[in-house]
Amino acid sequence: MNKIVIVTGSPGVGKSTMIKSIAAHGDYRIINIGSAMLEMASTKGLVKDRDEIRFLSTKTVRNLQDEVFKSISQMDGNIILDTHSSIEANGRFVPGVPFETMRIIRDTVHGMVYIDALTDEIMKRATDDKERTRNTDRVFIDTQRRINISILSMYSAYLNIPLYVIFNRQDKLDEGIKSLKEHIEQIFSEE
Ligand code: AMP
Ligand code: MG
Repeated sequence: MNKIVIVTGSPGVGKSTMIKSIAAHGDYRIINIGSAMLEMASTKGLVKDRDEIRFLSTKTVRNLQDEVFKSISQMDGNIILDTHSSIEANGRFVPGVPFETMRIIRDTVHGMVYIDALTDEIMKRATDDKERTRNTDRVFIDTQRRINISILSMYSAYLNIPLYVIFNRQDKLDEGIKSLKEHIEQIFSEE
């Protein structure tokens, strides 16, 4: 049976950067759910850009999630999922992993890692990243951080999946990467 670690964090926190930097170091494959969603959504002619996906209707997002997670549940080996706890668009938050999906894959999910930073740090990174169209509103970023942790704590307590929280603090990227690597190796090495 495969082993999954779900890594989430608010848009702009530095999640993909951190995950990419541990990519070459272990016996695991990294799946970026946003890229898988983009592939499916663009094949269907729904979007041209990854930052358009979150604005699709709730139902369309849900259908794409179903397809993407179905293909992941059939994969073998150690898998790191680079994704989101919640996805925000115009004040609407949808869960990154629908409860029904989480319930189905729960036995393969050995841990969840949440990457956090201060709201102002995330805001600055989201503003500085000119390649992406992210929400840079302080209140929304702050709200999303709270919604993210609420969803993850619910999954953690209700489905008994451990939650690891790490930080990508300003000018401390190396420390963040080090704890990400340690946690992931520990999760995959456990029975
Ligand atoms: P990212 O590059 O991680 O920001 O992902 C790009 C986009 O993919 C996000 O803005 C979301 O619209 C979408 N996405 C990523 N993960 C999920 C997920 N688990 N559920 C729904 N949409 C997702
Ligand atoms: Mg990313």
